[in-house]
Amino acid sequence: FLKTSPKELRGNIRVHCRVRPLLPFDYVPSSTSGSRPMSSEEVVSAISSDTVMVNCIKTGTPVQNKMFEFERVYGPEDSQEAVFQEVKPLLTSLMDGYNVCIMAYGQTGSGKTHTMMGSQLLEEHWGPQQEAQQGIIPKAAAELFRLISDKPAETLTVEVSVMEVYNNEVLDLLARDAQGSGADQRREVITNSAGTSQVTSLTHEPVHNASEVMQVIGSVLKLRAHCPTLFHADSSRSHFIVTSRVSPKSPNALPWARRLQSAKKAMQRSAQKEWWSPGCRRANPGGAAHRSSNDHLFASTPSSPCRSPSHSPCPSPRPSVSQAPFRTKLQLVDLAGSECVGMSGVSGAALWEVSCINRSLSALSDVLGALAEQRPHVPYRNSKLTHVLQDAIGGDAKLLVMLCVSPTQRFVTESLQSLGFGARAR
Ligand code: ADP
Ligand code: MG
Repeated sequence: FLKTSPKELRGNIRVHCRVRPLLPFDYVPSSTSGSRPMSSEEVVSAISSDTVMVNCIKTGTPVQNKMFEFERVYGPEDSQEAVFQEVKPLLTSLMDGYNVCIMAYGQTGSGKTHTMMGSQLLEEHWGPQQEAQQGIIPKAAAELFRLISDKPAETLTVEVSVMEVYNNEVLDLLARDAQGSGADQRREVITNSAGTSQVTSLTHEPVHNASEVMQVIGSVLKLRAHCPTLFHADSSRSHFIVTSRVSPKSPNALPWARRLQSAKKAMQRSAQKEWWSPGCRRANPGGAAHRSSNDHLFASTPSSPCRSPSHSPCPSPRPSVSQAPFRTKLQLVDLAGSECVGMSGVSGAALWEVSCINRSLSALSDVLGALAEQRPHVPYRNSKLTHVLQDAIGGDAKLLVMLCVSPTQRFVTESLQSLGFGARAR
């Protein structure tokens, strides 16, 4: 077996992989034997809770089977709830002051939207029995407000924005004109004085509970369903980004905001010799994740040096950030389909669309590769996608890449490409 082993040192990036079940549309109808598996033969499988095997022998290619190891691998039997249980600690990290990003990567039809949103996209279709089918976005919204209600003394505000990156353009999907429909949604992404990326004039909708979060997202999905002319043809050709921004009502309302502030003051006093705390595992000046073989970053455990009572949390990686308000953000991303759409035979707008998707996903791969290898320069600005996500995937942020793969032989090339993308990010 060829085995793609995890690197010994692990930082702020985790890669999970979900192999979806065989579904009716995987079966190719045949006139002689009815619905029977043909190219739908299962060749990609979760053989343990951390290993995916691609049975290349079955595919007829004269190579060995391939194994890929990730922090967590989910098989067809793993429920939405089982997946969310593994993701949930990241919400605690968010409340501890980290930016968090969860992104689903995979070809069209591999289960990205199912994993992120769930199969019932519009809330009007939800009943209690559908709750089990909810994906990470609704479950994370519920968990976020549960954690907030556990801290009644801390007055926090949550605002939601919904963006799409399409044809290397950032669109603010909550921007509406007076009629509630098609305002100009194009937005710029800039690097602000604090050194972080910022989308200008982005609409932030205040929300007070999980249901309001889903109403905001639902309003976009409904508009898309009812006014398709306002949107491009196929949602799987764009990157869909839901951001929840959590801020204290007053700058000192949150313990972590207070701790951050005092840590920053201490840091300034220490003549800025080192602008991250000694012993701290969080970000380094290059913006690359600071690696440790013994890190529990994802578990948000009190044993983490960053959160032990005697150790104030690490200051932000960027020295000039002390001017910026104390906020954390949760970015949940349903990426465009990663399948290699051939450029031959397409021209004009279609060619531009394909090349934009290819370029943004390869820019994402370059950024994750640079972070994994701790290179001093991380090329965030090579695409709008990576620039928009800059402070959610680098520095002290915690990123979870959820690789979605289909089990069938028909899509084995795409699955191998997705697994390779995940292996490169680790
Ligand atoms: P993508 O967003 O990657 O294009 P979808 O999430 O739309 O793919 O999934 C394609 C189809 O497969 C949908 O009908 C979805 O409900 C179904 N599906 C995906 N993953 C699962 C799963 N783990 N369990 C059951 N059905 C799934
Ligand atoms: Mg989708």
